[in-house]
Amino acid sequence: MKKTLKDIDVKGKKVLVRVDYNVPLDAGQNITNDKRIAATLPTIQYLLEQNAAIILMAHLGRPKGKAVAEMSLKPVAPRLSELLGKSVKFVSGDCISEESKKAAADLKPGEILLLENLRFHCEEEGKNAAGEKDKSAMDAFAKELASMGEVFVQDAFGTVHRAHASTAGVVKYLKDAAAGFLVEKELKFLGEALDKPVRPFLAILGGAKVSDKISVIENLLNKVNAIIIGGAMAYTFLKSQGVSTGVSLVEDDKLDLAAELLKKAKEKKIEFLLPVDHIVTNKIDFANKAVPSDAIVNITADEAIEEGFMGVDVGPKSIEKFAEAVKSAKTIVWNGPLGVFEIDKFSKGTVEIAKLVAEATEEGATSVVGGGDSVSAVKKAGVDKKISHISTGGGASLEFLEGKELPGIAALPEKE
Ligand code: AMP
Repeated sequence: MKKTLKDIDVKGKKVLVRVDYNVPLDAGQNITNDKRIAATLPTIQYLLEQNAAIILMAHLGRPKGKAVAEMSLKPVAPRLSELLGKSVKFVSGDCISEESKKAAADLKPGEILLLENLRFHCEEEGKNAAGEKDKSAMDAFAKELASMGEVFVQDAFGTVHRAHASTAGVVKYLKDAAAGFLVEKELKFLGEALDKPVRPFLAILGGAKVSDKISVIENLLNKVNAIIIGGAMAYTFLKSQGVSTGVSLVEDDKLDLAAELLKKAKEKKIEFLLPVDHIVTNKIDFANKAVPSDAIVNITADEAIEEGFMGVDVGPKSIEKFAEAVKSAKTIVWNGPLGVFEIDKFSKGTVEIAKLVAEATEEGATSVVGGGDSVSAVKKAGVDKKISHISTGGGASLEFLEGKELPGIAALPEKE
């Protein structure tokens, strides 16, 4: 078990906190969704109660090692201040400039300073000025950051799968370190689902590509009792079993692997549920996420898809079949939509599953939803409040499900 916030002494200390403030901004630099900022309040409020001086480190967008004005964290400071009801200092320009260091040095207990976008420095992501991988450049940058504080708190779950200066690098240069409340909650829900799930344990996986989720499926086959596969991924599995898939998105180079995974599931007596019918269309405008007006949209009679048509959502019989598995599950992990849910006409499968997962949760199951699209789907279905845990890190939660070590977590010290 890693140390968490209450395991370390932060009283009156200068605390460096890595947060995830990678928020969406509109053209006028206004924050369009402040959920990520709000998610850090419990940790910040606790640190304030402990009379700590708080130095927040974050990134925004992909400035690729350059100071890009549109990717400044400046708009975040007033929003955080509004949410906290307390002023938040911000130094423009550079997170490790003399001015930033002075602001950190002058920071008094109970005050908050937000540093400028870490990724204005290529060293944050382990590269040197030439764009080459360079661990010593990253270490030097981490040391500069660490020089501003005494202890470290990791509360940016969205970046813990990255071995960056501010996630893994800084720890060794500080007296103590711990997971913040947000990261602690993520580790609790994801960790308990994977390590000691109440059974039956069901995984629901969807999305565009099998190739993105092979390791997740492989790892989950050692853990779950049942697995539902939807989205375009399903067609690669169906084709591997000789089912006709028309012009659906299929990864032909993954057919053998898909067949192997199905065989493995059978050997392990894991229920592997694929769609038994589909919503199909002969035309779709993926770029604009729209259905052309002359497109033909059908529901198939069974799992086969006729030539010239592509599967874009799971059909009604599939939803019924999946519903049984969802209703009987006591632990549910979900990542990825079951269809092209961005188009309303093709969102039914995903939205229905979201509602079913919410109902199962109300009946006592634990549900964990991760990945940007599945999170949007539970919101679209209006059931986000009913899910036990919505992960704040798409990539990080996926790597967790793969069973991979997350560098930002691995770097934290163990509980004593
Ligand atoms: P991922 O990022 O892998 O979770 O994939 C999410 C994307 O998969 C979404 O943009 C969906 O529109 C897309 N998707 C889901 N089902 C299908 C499908 N049947 N055909 C094409 N794309 C799909």
